[in-house]
Amino acid sequence: MKVLVVAAHPDDEVLGCGGTIARLAQEGHEVHIAILAEGITSRYSQRVDADPSLLRDLHAHSRQAASALGARGVTLHGLPDNRLDTVPLLDVVKIVESLIEKISPSRVYTHHGGDLNVDHSVVNRAALTGTRPLQGCPVREVYLFEVPSSTEWAFHQFETSFRPNVFVDVSQTLEVKIRAMACYESEVRPFPHPRSPEALRAWAQRWGSVAGCAAAEAFQLVRAMV
Ligand SMILES: [Zn+2]
Repeated sequence: MKVLVVAAHPDDEVLGCGGTIARLAQEGHEVHIAILAEGITSRYSQRVDADPSLLRDLHAHSRQAASALGARGVTLHGLPDNRLDTVPLLDVVKIVESLIEKISPSRVYTHHGGDLNVDHSVVNRAALTGTRPLQGCPVREVYLFEVPSSTEWAFHQFETSFRPNVFVDVSQTLEVKIRAMACYESEVRPFPHPRSPEALRAWAQRWGSVAGCAAAEAFQLVRAMV
């Protein structure tokens, strides 16, 4: 099976479905990761003020994380970080469509649309548009993931809440996810931040307790074509 993960920022792919990527890769599936925004530049008042070496480091971390997870590869698309609401949606959709055409995935994972982070919402919309089930579309299943430090921080105030109904047992790959996240030196935070190793383990254990296993990642199924 070919799988495509469409994420907004470097680290979202790990936070959202790192354990699942690692498990799919171990099971012999081909997982591709696409990261649409460049990351980091939103920490500066002007995008051009960002230190290019920090961006280069971040993108190297993405490649290290993808390799740690066993993904086939990662593509970085360099859209403006936390400014995706300034980019025409059609431009983002075109990127997704070109990925679908090139990779021909049967399964896609992407962001939930009700996250606090505006880029996550834009990517959700673009991914749903780019994978719409026209005749001949290779995508049979679309799943939404949550991103600790964004999905829960919307506090269900936006139109849709994350309502997971698919759970992946990541008991055997949770530590791979934690190691992949450690590649992102600039994004990991100390406990009790949701992006700390302790919180990520607790998160997985919590979903595990919901689903009847030691550790799980939670997804919301958008559609499945059988
Ligand atoms: Zn993000």
